[in-house]
Amino acid sequence: MDTAALAALLFSHITASPADMEARFPRRTLPDGARVTRIAPSPTGFLHIGALFSALTDERLAHLSGGVFYLRIEDTDRKREVPGAVEAYIRNFDRYGLTFDEGVTIDGDTGSYGPYRQSQRTEIYQTFAKWLVEQGRAYPCFCTEDELNAMREQQETEKITPGYYGTWAVWRDADETAVREKLAVGVPYVIRFKSLGDPERRIKFTDQIKGALEFPENDQDIVLLKSDGIPTYHFAHVVDDHLMGTTHVVRGEEWLASLPVHLEIFRAMGWKPPKFCHTATIMKLDGSSKRKISKRKDPEADLEWYSREGYPPESVREYVMTLLNSNFEDWRRDHAAEDLTAFPFSLNKMSVSGALFDLQKLADVSKNVVCRMSAAQVYQSAAAWAKEYSPDFHALLTRDPAYSTAILNIGREDPKPRRDYGVWSELPAYMSFFFDETFTPGGEYPANLTADDHRAILTRFLETYCADDDVNAWFDKLKAIAAELGLAPDTKTFRKNPGAYRGHVGDVSMVLRVAVTGRNNAPDLYSVMRILGAERTLARVRAAL
Ligand code: GLU
Repeated sequence: MDTAALAALLFSHITASPADMEARFPRRTLPDGARVTRIAPSPTGFLHIGALFSALTDERLAHLSGGVFYLRIEDTDRKREVPGAVEAYIRNFDRYGLTFDEGVTIDGDTGSYGPYRQSQRTEIYQTFAKWLVEQGRAYPCFCTEDELNAMREQQETEKITPGYYGTWAVWRDADETAVREKLAVGVPYVIRFKSLGDPERRIKFTDQIKGALEFPENDQDIVLLKSDGIPTYHFAHVVDDHLMGTTHVVRGEEWLASLPVHLEIFRAMGWKPPKFCHTATIMKLDGSSKRKISKRKDPEADLEWYSREGYPPESVREYVMTLLNSNFEDWRRDHAAEDLTAFPFSLNKMSVSGALFDLQKLADVSKNVVCRMSAAQVYQSAAAWAKEYSPDFHALLTRDPAYSTAILNIGREDPKPRRDYGVWSELPAYMSFFFDETFTPGGEYPANLTADDHRAILTRFLETYCADDDVNAWFDKLKAIAAELGLAPDTKTFRKNPGAYRGHVGDVSMVLRVAVTGRNNAPDLYSVMRILGAERTLARVRAAL
């Protein structure tokens, strides 16, 4: 077969050479050790939480080394493409503080290695596919879907490895006239890679996360270009990561199985492969067994879910970091106030087998993150969430920003700040009693006191309350009420001699708490009353009476 003539026939429209492409995408000049990483989502409209794991790893690797982090869109599967997906991805990545140095943006591409959408790089892939045909390392295959299915069925019956390889690769060594005949009548074809591998031989390989690995060589003649001339992932990955100068490919371990193919294509092209970092699949506990987080079963598989629920992006980042690097939590203990970008992220601290994702732990981490925020930050972030996902609450929250910020500041300035909430969707319930529209009387008055006691407490409170009292003066008045009713002035006295009292000053504040907030659990009552203001506080006590 005259492979040069075949290549010219198949790719008559391709005039560029591989050398032209190399000249168009010169090697990057970056400082020693600088890492070039990318994320390369397909615009199917769904970002798995795993994408954030990879993206954060990529971003940290690049930015801690003075390298480049870029966004490439792998839109070679037109059938699965969802309009608006790319824009949504970009908004999502931005939300998690992942800033790209290059690649696809809302307003077009930035950077010298574009286009960064694979659908716009067809000529580039075809230039290299043409070259592979010339070299005798790729060829057209005219098998129909039916023929391939029949082949697979036969392989299944014979219990042998399925696929297009060895003697099954019927077009691999086809003679020139057969090929020309098919082309002459316009029979559709794909371009396949001509593998020289032998599964009896093994290749050794070092993954940056998984360590030393060994595989049988590939012998499948995989498809490089589909019948519409569009590349498969395998081919586009090799060409793009070479031309774009990617130094580290971070991707899910589901790609490990195709790695021998990728390595063989890199070798056939005469290119040095990037370093590969295959990340462990994210698992969750289901009962007592572990399983993959599934797009179908688990709402938390979808990155959008965290926005809807109102997880602050900082919390999700923080939690993902605890799963990515085993020493992150120790570091955080010693560096409570620092931004996580100060953490010395490293590949060799990454989990080799399935990281366990735990929403309870995320909620807990989120409380820690939120309690370190200022009230103003909480207000802003919560208002942004509410605007999109809880309009009624947004109206209440933003009606008087100073009022809301004061509520959100309760317990925040203590040396050990309160950890009341970690997710913005908890705020409507947490804050409800502060707004007359959402306040509902409720809670239980202390059963150790009588209804007359309850009334007496509320009445005496109305008579003695003074809005200007500081916390000590305020509390002294509650103690005085306790004394009048024969209750212990503090819990210590009560506990020393429980038989002598019907209750203690805590019961007095509980009566007031129930009257004012409608619940038994509420933040510090003095702060609550200060924020509610005298008028609202007294009105609620009167209403309770
Ligand atoms: N488009 C591939 C995916 O979405 C990217 C894999 C990779 O990072 O190479 O799974």
